[in-house]
Amino acid sequence: MKLFILLFLPLLLMASHISLQVLGSGGPEGGERASPSYLIKKDGKAIVLVDFGGGSFLRFGQARAKIEDLQVVLITHLHIDHVVELPALMKAGYFSDRGCRLNMIGPKGNEYFPGFNEYIQLQFGEKGAYRYMSDILTSQSESFSLKVHEVKKDRSYDFLNMYIKAVQVNHGVVPAVAYRIEIDDKVIVFSGDTSANSEALTKLSQDADILVAHHAIPEHGYEGARRLHMTPSRTATISQEAKVKMLLLSHRMNRTLGLEKEHQTLMSKIYKGKILWAEDLIEIKIP
Ligand SMILES: [Zn+2]
Repeated sequence: MKLFILLFLPLLLMASHISLQVLGSGGPEGGERASPSYLIKKDGKAIVLVDFGGGSFLRFGQARAKIEDLQVVLITHLHIDHVVELPALMKAGYFSDRGCRLNMIGPKGNEYFPGFNEYIQLQFGEKGAYRYMSDILTSQSESFSLKVHEVKKDRSYDFLNMYIKAVQVNHGVVPAVAYRIEIDDKVIVFSGDTSANSEALTKLSQDADILVAHHAIPEHGYEGARRLHMTPSRTATISQEAKVKMLLLSHRMNRTLGLEKEHQTLMSKIYKGKILWAEDLIEIKIP
């Protein structure tokens, strides 16, 4: 036993700790929860930021996250409750000590929504609302600057010790992306907002350590909203088929608050893994 510990101690000491922290667990209605936003932390440092809805900027600070540590920002879609506080983060970046460009990945556009490049231009481009900060889009910028990537088709990105797969999912007329992030030997998947009416999310979530999904609609009713979101039973089916180890239910909208017990009973009949409920600032260690 002693020999075992001596042999493997260096490896144990080197093993990294990956965790997922919720910044916002709510929806667009406001209230006591921030809108959707999440961090992936490695050894306590926030290296991935996913979405940045209302209230997330304050939560980012409360989570002791630093702009200097971020490797990439992932945006699932351009609904206000997923992106509205990005300009505040950019301004904070301007005041940070960050030297290298910040990678940001977001969806393509269509006739109803701008693509991610255009969205950033509408804010920080020469004719943008915040054109006084247009410097952040120039590669020569010596201070804080961005590198914007638009997901025109399903693809993957290799970052330092991290592999990210971006897949388009159905969210009505809204171009939307789900992400699979592989760091060391851990896999974290974000469904974003989706009706998940294709196999794409099931494939993307295969054997994930944790799937972060929305709990935005009740099992019954809200026919229109079903074109945008997964019902609890649909989320459970995908999690079971993909052999997901943990399912985190977030994006908890007013119309589902109070239905947790009922939905958990229903989902546990379909999905045999662990079901967790998101609260702002909870941190989940990925074992
Ligand atoms: Zn949403």
